[in-house]
Amino acid sequence: MRQTEAFIRTKREAPKDEQSVNAKLLARGGYVDKLTSGVYTFLPLGLRVLRKIEHIIREEMNAIGGVELLMPALHPKELWEETGRWKSVDDLYKIKDRQEREFALGPTHEEVITDILRKRTLSYKDLPFYLYQIQTKFRDELRAKSGLLRGREFLMKDLYSFHASEEDRKKYYETVKKAYIKIFKRCGLSPIVAEASGGSFSKESSHEFQVRTPGGEDIVVFCAKCDWAKNVEIAGKKAGEPCPSCTHLLKEDKSIEVGNTFTLGTKFSEAMKAFFVAKDGRNKPIVMGCYGIGLGRLMGAAVVVNHDEKGIVWPHEIAPFDVHIILLQSKDAKTQKRIAGEAEKLYHKLQGLSAVLWDDRDVSAGEKFADADLIGAYRRIVISEKTLDAGKVEVKRRDSNKARFVSTRSILNQEL
Ligand code: ATP
Ligand code: MG
Repeated sequence: MRQTEAFIRTKREAPKDEQSVNAKLLARGGYVDKLTSGVYTFLPLGLRVLRKIEHIIREEMNAIGGVELLMPALHPKELWEETGRWKSVDDLYKIKDRQEREFALGPTHEEVITDILRKRTLSYKDLPFYLYQIQTKFRDELRAKSGLLRGREFLMKDLYSFHASEEDRKKYYETVKKAYIKIFKRCGLSPIVAEASGGSFSKESSHEFQVRTPGGEDIVVFCAKCDWAKNVEIAGKKAGEPCPSCTHLLKEDKSIEVGNTFTLGTKFSEAMKAFFVAKDGRNKPIVMGCYGIGLGRLMGAAVVVNHDEKGIVWPHEIAPFDVHIILLQSKDAKTQKRIAGEAEKLYHKLQGLSAVLWDDRDVSAGEKFADADLIGAYRRIVISEKTLDAGKVEVKRRDSNKARFVSTRSILNQEL
């Protein structure tokens, strides 16, 4: 993509009303635009990263048998009354239509998915199955000051699993945990898995995937020796106390919760009468689990963990571009024409191999380099009169200080 056509508008200064690192850098890099607190537009550059995160999540969900569907955001009040959550969920957005009918803007979809199941006859032979969506959620968050980490409107991947037995659910729960670790790793993050309470969903076990970083809103207390970890809010343990599992002294860190896995059991299926016909011919409530990942929060966390003073350093798999070509202008018109011609040739060739952004703007080298660092594409290729005279281009990864000179021929042979 040519930068002059890509609608990329970077900013030297972060917007005054943004406090968090992710929001500042994403706004400066031209990734997002804030409409109001907790509500963001993903600009073309931001959408590229979001799509890559979506792609990774889809791949890993499909790999564990997930089947995708898309549920509505507008939920009738009556459905939420059936589970008691119309009253008990504090951050539920409630709206009224012209005929005084009330609706919730969905913050999560247990009610809707359970409604789909109860309308169908299911036998034990149909179970288990796993349904997921990537869909917009709404939550009336009080503290929406953390950019993409806490939206009031945000994208979530929510997976729901349906089983004939608790034993089967438990097995799948472990499968999902492994898939989550893969997803986060592919996005450049290594969260620890912390035990948590079930929140408004369930009293049974649930886990939070916590990325340890000073930019986090949560605090996680953990053991550096074994894998014991809990959110400090509920742990009843503090740093310096012995680990309940191995007695090593516990530590505390700020953290970002990028994902959550919940045991639902039969809470929703009993409340909403979603049954299956068991082997013995009797009706039994379906055993359920649910599993969420916030896509925007994941993107924000990737920025918090991977940046330097110049801008974002995207992990390879979610970088908006693999290659950022930077053409250094020459004062001599003839030379300029020659290097522009070479840059264009390289651009067209590379396009077939990877995602390429070409800085074809008529601005200073300094401005081009500053923007390239801010945007944070995976690697930068600099073409100038000097490099071309040597039959080479300069290649530098955003996460490294070392530049290499590579012959144009090997670049075209994919030897990056
Ligand atoms: P938190 O305690 O941080 O508010 P939560 O426990 O309410 O999170 P869940 O209901 O488990 O979150 O939602 C599943 C996932 O959705 C979370 O792990 C997180 O990645 C994401 N998420 C939740 N709330 C938000 C939000 N306001 N903005 C962006 N992502 C969110
Ligand atoms: Mg919440």
